[in-house]
Amino acid sequence: MGYIILIVVLAVLILAVGGTMLLRPRGTRGVRRGRAGGDLGSGTGTGTIERPGTDTDTAGTGTAQAPPVPRPADVTAPPAPPVVEKPPPSAGRMMRLRARLARSQTGFGAALLGLLSRDRLDDDTWDEMEEVLITADVGVTPARQIVSDLRTKVKVEGTRTSEEVRAMLRAELLAQVETEASRALRTQRHEGRPAVVLVVGVNGTGKTTTVGKLARSLVGDGDTVVLGAADTFRAAAVDQLQTWGDRVGAQTVRSDKEGADPASVAFEAVSHGIEGEADVVLIDTAGRLHTKTGLMDELGKVKRVIEKRTSVDEVLLVLDATTGQNGLRQARVFAEVVDVSGIVLTKLDGTAKGGIVIAVQRELGVPVKLVGLGEGPDDLAPFDAETFVDAILGD
Ligand code: GDP
Repeated sequence: MGYIILIVVLAVLILAVGGTMLLRPRGTRGVRRGRAGGDLGSGTGTGTIERPGTDTDTAGTGTAQAPPVPRPADVTAPPAPPVVEKPPPSAGRMMRLRARLARSQTGFGAALLGLLSRDRLDDDTWDEMEEVLITADVGVTPARQIVSDLRTKVKVEGTRTSEEVRAMLRAELLAQVETEASRALRTQRHEGRPAVVLVVGVNGTGKTTTVGKLARSLVGDGDTVVLGAADTFRAAAVDQLQTWGDRVGAQTVRSDKEGADPASVAFEAVSHGIEGEADVVLIDTAGRLHTKTGLMDELGKVKRVIEKRTSVDEVLLVLDATTGQNGLRQARVFAEVVDVSGIVLTKLDGTAKGGIVIAVQRELGVPVKLVGLGEGPDDLAPFDAETFVDAILGD
């Protein structure tokens, strides 16, 4: 009898343990994730996450759908590791990195100065000048404008010393590079909420690296930053972003499910930022330029879902400066899909075609706000027109 009772008790125990194991989420990460956000915000990780509203939105697609409900179990904000770097502030960065620009622009500014300093400036010389500018990706219309302006000035001023030539060219390039719109990044908290920055662009342009570098730079300036890994189609990009965040103590809100709804992750990141009183939430978005409609649906949804909780303050378009006309085509498509408020030109250290600054600003009517000048963590600088032009001219 005793044996039978023992066997029954053992059978019940085995069944109970087996059942529990079957119900547990695969891997322990799901469990760790659920709790992780607690040190920034009070709401996340508790399972009570506000729904992003219930009103429907038909913009762009014509199919009315309620915004997605973020699934707490999918979204994770792991705690920062104990050793955190202290990045330097952003001030004066472009000046410090200017040598890289000057190096990469060899030929462009020097060639223009050389041509302008010739004793006789005939039609061929002016044509050559236009060619130099076009080769540097300035764009045909601005190149013609620059040459025409310089021609007029030379005619009016007559003889020229080398200093005068230089000053003339500097003024002309500056006029082309300067914009009326402010280059300041809107990353300040407002109305008791964090600023929200969406970072968009095609894969390979340096988008994720830029989000990571920008997070570092903001932390260096004293801001609290939350990262949203909404490029959910590339697991590597999500991990890469988290590594950037971990290094400077910025929390990364992510989903471990590849292909999870990017809008959900973005919403969750913004909620996390609001509840944790962060200064800035940076959202890395998917850069699949499959079709314009697909892109529009994806980015449009991310933006609309965020706007259920707060405004999007800045939409930064990341462009690879080495891609010339192709980059400009990408810029055009993105500008049609979202209201781009600033351009980040990456890999300006690796190209002699800095003229793209002029071309892209003209194309989109939006200022270049940041430039990538290398692969190092602090090689992202606020763009400054004078520093840029002086670097081009080899000052
Ligand atoms: P994403 O696919 O757009 O997210 O691109 P990644 O952020 O993964 O970057 C693609 C590659 O470009 C990486 O090897 C980066 O190190 C490199 N990269 C990004 N920004 C710069 C830059 O300003 N200068 C240089 N030289 N390389 C860069």
